[in-house]
Amino acid sequence: MSFFEYNDEIIIVDAGVQFPEEETPGIDFIIPNVSYLEPKKKNIKAIIITHAHFDHIGAIPYIIGKIGNPPIYTTAFAKEMILKRQSEFVNAPKLDVRIIKDKDVTRLSKYFEAEFFGVSHSVPDTVGFILKTPVGNMATFADFKVEADEQGKPKNIDELVLLSKRNIHTIFLDSTNAETPGWTISEKIVEKNLEDLFLKAKGRIMVGIFSTLLNRIGEIIKIAEKLDKKVAFSGRSIKENFEIARQLGYIKIKKGLVIPLEEASKYNDNKLLILSTGAQGESNASLMKIVTGEHKTLRIKAGDSIIFSSSIIPGNERSVQALKDNLVRQGAFVYHTKMIDIHSTGHASQEEIKAILSIIKPRFFIPIHGYLFMRTMNAQNGVQCGIPKNNIFLPDNGQIMQMKNDSIKMTDENIPASYVMVDGLGVGDVGEVVIRDRRLLSQEGMIVIIVTLSRKDGRFIKNPDIISRGFIYLKDNQKILEEIRSKIKNIVAQIPNKSQLDPDYLKNLFRDQIGQFVNKKTNRRPMILPVIIEI
Ligand SMILES: [Zn+2]
Repeated sequence: MSFFEYNDEIIIVDAGVQFPEEETPGIDFIIPNVSYLEPKKKNIKAIIITHAHFDHIGAIPYIIGKIGNPPIYTTAFAKEMILKRQSEFVNAPKLDVRIIKDKDVTRLSKYFEAEFFGVSHSVPDTVGFILKTPVGNMATFADFKVEADEQGKPKNIDELVLLSKRNIHTIFLDSTNAETPGWTISEKIVEKNLEDLFLKAKGRIMVGIFSTLLNRIGEIIKIAEKLDKKVAFSGRSIKENFEIARQLGYIKIKKGLVIPLEEASKYNDNKLLILSTGAQGESNASLMKIVTGEHKTLRIKAGDSIIFSSSIIPGNERSVQALKDNLVRQGAFVYHTKMIDIHSTGHASQEEIKAILSIIKPRFFIPIHGYLFMRTMNAQNGVQCGIPKNNIFLPDNGQIMQMKNDSIKMTDENIPASYVMVDGLGVGDVGEVVIRDRRLLSQEGMIVIIVTLSRKDGRFIKNPDIISRGFIYLKDNQKILEEIRSKIKNIVAQIPNKSQLDPDYLKNLFRDQIGQFVNKKTNRRPMILPVIIEI
């Protein structure tokens, strides 16, 4: 999420989620911090949503009420995806979604007007836009890639030339693949390779794919039709997304081509193509269930061809590897993008970024999306296209950029941008402390100390109980167990007036002293959880 503010008006761009990292165990995802926007909600005139990916729409149900439910401007496809998600939240407000399309010019408020243009991405109906503001025209390309023609020249060049006439003040460009040289592989090559694989396959074909990669899903269905195969979907999200794309006319199919999964067994193996979620090795997704035998109707058969038409999201390498191992163990043939180009990213590589920068010639450039390293690489793309280094900015999350007609200043001012974490159904109730605890637990384990004392005189009523999880196997370490016990007794013994025991004080003593003791003995720092029972 980012936003533009001028006088008493605010325009927000996208409201997505960030996926959890290793440092945030047990967190479903992270949503934008809107504490700056909340008190200014009456100033928010619009949210522009560039496309239907979860990292651009996912936070809407969580934040929309807090920021006064302003109108959302987005494309027809993204609208359906937003509404579908909103419907899963019973208490979320009814949304005011206004459909825009390629080439629309829409007045958003007194100071802001948006001119939309379509861009290529992996999900249908993705738009960039020029935000016309009192200080100049701001261009943002959402997530995009530039398809090249056979000669390696960018397609839709006319559109870019048109944009170059808009005298762009600042351009905001996706940095996801800014470190990848050259052009991204053309979807045409991906489709050709997929078709070759489909032709080669003797048994059933299962394609593991992201459920939002609908442009390719559409192409795969076309190939299936050409090869006289039936298509079935496995996985709720992929089925629903396909249905939305079909109803809106982004995917056109012949009647009877797509069959319910339950009917798949009626067809010969070589007549079947199954599109499935779970190519990231997610434990609860369809592909994993098929492999582990938990799926309702499908099992892997020897001779199946499993095609991973997807990239591996960093962090998922191990689970994908385990999935592939399991598949070959059951006699399937596995194909993935390292073997053959059967996936192409939705994000521009260096040459595409440079093509855009050199045609549009913006005055200022702000690389967005991606880690600082990726954005720095993107800044270099800008320098190579002749944008002065001083005109390229890499702000941190929350950092305020002051934009004037002929300058940009990266201020030292920050708005609150700390992570808001969503854990199950709770929002923001998982703070830093909880995360620190979870991290500690996952790395060092825990020791629970249960101490039962007499309320009257602080005497031990029974021997302290010590339970450990993920630390060391205490049964095999009786010595240390005994040492911890006598340490506990010592701590209590040293308290002068035991008739007025303060349990919190005692807990802190246990935490500190047992913690130090265990650390000295084992070099580890398990979480110490004292429980004091007074009888
Ligand atoms: Zn995207």
